[in-house]
Amino acid sequence: MNDTLVMNRNFYAIHIVGWQRAVSLLYQGHAEAVGDDLQTHSFDDWKELSSEMSEHPGGFISTVNFKIAIPEVIRLTRYDRLPRAEVKFTRRNIYQTYHYRCCYCGRQFKTQDLNLDHVVPRSKGGNTDWSNIVTACIPCNARKMDKRPEEVGMKLMVSPTKPKWKGSKSLLQFSFPVKISWQKLIDEKYWNTELEKR
Ligand SMILES: [Zn+2]
Repeated sequence: MNDTLVMNRNFYAIHIVGWQRAVSLLYQGHAEAVGDDLQTHSFDDWKELSSEMSEHPGGFISTVNFKIAIPEVIRLTRYDRLPRAEVKFTRRNIYQTYHYRCCYCGRQFKTQDLNLDHVVPRSKGGNTDWSNIVTACIPCNARKMDKRPEEVGMKLMVSPTKPKWKGSKSLLQFSFPVKISWQKLIDEKYWNTELEKR
């Protein structure tokens, strides 16, 4: 069965849930279904609409009394904050964070010519996390070896930091593939929704 994309009240895509959860949120009034027309529908609305649909990309759930389309996208009715999200600590994200540059010499490299470097070496208790991992080119890496940068007269051009999550698009980009239909909704809603004053 299909998963459902969850948007918050401001139409930021926040995560993906299984269809059971999506329908349950809709049923409980915690969410509205977002239709192809980009309109939002309450459970009752959606139930009525579903009865007129002969097919639906998300499929249907049939009960004794009615059938309901599994919404591809739902919008939460209450939750209007952005969820706390984190950029995953992956090689790709680390490379992207440092713009494919060596953090010691500052030059840009191709992926295969960059390594990850423990600023404080593992042998000296350095952690493998955002606070201690940077990108380094092969010559800089070789020069630094198993030392701290200051021990070999090297300097970091940037300090290692955990990148900030940049919003729904990045989240989607980083954590899961986006269906085309979702992307359309995300883009349209993202650019066209009137922002709420806080
Ligand atoms: Zn370098």
